[in-house]
Amino acid sequence: MTYDFFDVRVSAVSVLTPSAVRVTFTGRGLSSFVSGGRDQRFKLFFAAPGQAEAIVPRTPDWYLDWRAMDPAVRGIMRTYTVAEHRPDGFDVDFALHPGVTGPASAWAATARVGDPLLVLGPTVTDNGGVDFQPPPGTDWVLLAGDETAVPALAAIRSYIGNQLPVHTFIAAAPARCEPGGVHCPAGLLAPVRGAALPAGTPYAFIAGESGEVRALRRHLVRERGFDKRRVRFSGYWRRGATEDDLTAAPEGD
Ligand SMILES: Cc1cc2nc3c(=O)[nH]c(=O)nc-3n(C[C@H](O)[C@H](O)[C@H](O)COP(=O)(O)OP(=O)(O)OC[C@H]3O[C@@H](n4cnc5c(N)ncnc54)[C@H](O)[C@@H]3O)c2cc1C
Repeated sequence: MTYDFFDVRVSAVSVLTPSAVRVTFTGRGLSSFVSGGRDQRFKLFFAAPGQAEAIVPRTPDWYLDWRAMDPAVRGIMRTYTVAEHRPDGFDVDFALHPGVTGPASAWAATARVGDPLLVLGPTVTDNGGVDFQPPPGTDWVLLAGDETAVPALAAIRSYIGNQLPVHTFIAAAPARCEPGGVHCPAGLLAPVRGAALPAGTPYAFIAGESGEVRALRRHLVRERGFDKRRVRFSGYWRRGATEDDLTAAPEGD
């Protein structure tokens, strides 16, 4: 088993920017929670309206059993990134996107120390939940993403260290942009299009709003000549759609 359920509690909340909050979780049994680092994804479950807690069948076939439940009753599943992992807990950075909140962002906006949460987290480092896998022969790395991808980009950045040159483009509040990264307040495509990129064999990791991510991927492959096998892209959310909509009808490639 590469993932398991953990009952955790909020142990700290820190405001990162007016539109992002870091929530720290601890809990019993977290010694078997393991992160693969980089863009390690996992699942959080929130109580459906009218329920006191997230109802999720903790069975070997939990996903099928959960899908078979009444959507009005079952726990609401959302995907997030392990921003930082320690032996006794982990952090999640939530984008709050005020005005169009959903269950996860609304929960995070009001999270308090002691609040419980159910998560499905990795129990081995090689768990299939890490997309950043640059193949041999990579000369430099392009990272691009919006506020939802900042935890993944930051963790990838620290994973790479000084091993490869990295060019980072971030569409988030300036406080969340790393030194040397390009701040892209009006979207990712125009700044990347206008950027002078190095020679050599690149590897790109792009995550954020689905339409923007696909547009940027098209630019890299068609106009910049990136090998499409060297562009890892992931729609972290889609304008006008909830994660339930995306789970019900995943977008084609
Ligand atoms: C692999 C992966 C890793 C992710 N990691 C993170 C992470 O670490 N931190 C993080 O904040 N998010 C992350 N996300 C994105 C997050 O799962 C979505 O933003 C999710 O939709 C939030 O759930 P919700 O309940 O708040 O909103 P939903 O109920 O899913 O959606 C409600 C409404 O909000 C809109 N919406 C959703 N996200 C945004 C946004 N960012 N800005 C504006 N409108 C939005 C939707 O289009 C919809 O109209 C990740 C997604 C994936 C697939």
